[in-house]
Amino acid sequence: MTREMMLGTQAATVKAAPAAALDTIVADVIVVFMTEGGVAAGMAAEVDRATGGLLTRLADSGDLTGKRYETVPLLAPPHLKAGQLLVVGLGKREEVDLGTCFRAAATAARIVAARPRAKVAFLRESFWSDAQAEQAVAGAITGMVGQDLYRAEKKRTPFGETLWIGTSTEAVARGTILGDGVNLARYLVNLPPDDLYPESFAEQAATVAGQTGMEVEIWDEHRLSREGCRAMLAVGRGSVRPPRLVLLTYRGRGGDTPPDLALVGKGVTFDSGGLSLKPSEGMLTMKCDMAGGATMLAAAATIATLKLPINLVAAIGLVENMTGPAAYKLGDVITARSGTTIEIHNTDAEGRVVLADVLDVVRGLGPQRIVDAATLTGACVVALGLDVAGLFTNDQPLCDAVADAARAMGEPVWQLPMFPEYDEQIKSEVADIKNVGEGRWGGAITAAKFLERFVGSIPWTHVDIAGPAFAEKPKPWIDGGGTGTLVRTLVTLAQRLSQ
Ligand SMILES: [Zn+2]
Repeated sequence: MTREMMLGTQAATVKAAPAAALDTIVADVIVVFMTEGGVAAGMAAEVDRATGGLLTRLADSGDLTGKRYETVPLLAPPHLKAGQLLVVGLGKREEVDLGTCFRAAATAARIVAARPRAKVAFLRESFWSDAQAEQAVAGAITGMVGQDLYRAEKKRTPFGETLWIGTSTEAVARGTILGDGVNLARYLVNLPPDDLYPESFAEQAATVAGQTGMEVEIWDEHRLSREGCRAMLAVGRGSVRPPRLVLLTYRGRGGDTPPDLALVGKGVTFDSGGLSLKPSEGMLTMKCDMAGGATMLAAAATIATLKLPINLVAAIGLVENMTGPAAYKLGDVITARSGTTIEIHNTDAEGRVVLADVLDVVRGLGPQRIVDAATLTGACVVALGLDVAGLFTNDQPLCDAVADAARAMGEPVWQLPMFPEYDEQIKSEVADIKNVGEGRWGGAITAAKFLERFVGSIPWTHVDIAGPAFAEKPKPWIDGGGTGTLVRTLVTLAQRLSQ
């Protein structure tokens, strides 16, 4: 692994700066936010005054509207020392929330980062709360980083220095940690499978744990065997790269009590489908099948760096699903760590088989609640589309808490039902359960029903991120590739649980 970890790379370059007269700010680009209300209010009004009414003239001609995520670059703005002024729309003021601030700043940063910039100054909007400013800082950090890890000519170049004018040092520090966390998840997803496999992912996790003060335990194939993780081992048997289980512990609340929250991630570093081989076009993006694991590592690292007062454990099941001579087969019956027997009907439904053991290990730690994230089913994408994650639960209050945190962050989620009728579909004739339902229908739910068998009575919510974890095309606020979805949601959840 020659690539540098993304975690903390922006910390030294993003700075708070006191409010200043606009004509004294020295920067390549000044970014100002603007609502649909026009240029009469907020920082846009100040910029308008400083530039002799430039924004008013553009608003009058209809070239500047303040509509959400509209970007208007103005070159050589009069009376300013910056070569460029970028005006970014926030939409209607009464609709501006945390998610809007994140995306608006990310949109601006993504455009500005299209070429190298020594210094970029963002004007903190005057009506923002500190929490909103924090999200904007995080957004700018994600926007300036792309997926072109291996390109000589980068499409995005992080700014040499970012100044947040009129923003508190604390908001900038927290926003930077959050943005770095999202970028860590994206970075891991964007690494190709030959660079990121179970062992190297575990090494990355150990590095991150060292940087953030978390305890880390890595179970190799021998330890997994001693611990009875036969389901994880079965899925990994077709690969020359053996599985790993990563256990991260953070005790922000102190004491030796069971964890307040357990985060569980699916980390299939490459999914060929196994003997139930995927078609080539379905396999191309399968380096992203470890996105749940990346999300949980990044969320735990962010929570630890923010020093939230919560006791947390994160568990990541790392496996490569391949077709080697020892690959697990259709019709195989595996006795999972919990003792439940699983008949394999499709080796491409491997994520749930891996999570069966990971959830059982976590259950043994007795956490108050479990949230898992997995790129689990194409069926969830069929049901909800590419941008929305599916929620499944055995505990409505926990599910509501996850959904509320996601809504606050502007990360769309939708709950699907867990009616007992679906349990019928995963019954097997030869084993306790089988790893797919009857046919394709309700496949996201039968997968969740399978997972439910391994959490016992612990409140649990499963998030299927098969849609939003990876973007084949860019959006205005983010390049294609890994999206870092759910990292901000889980940090917000941990924040709320620790209050
Ligand atoms: Zn699969």
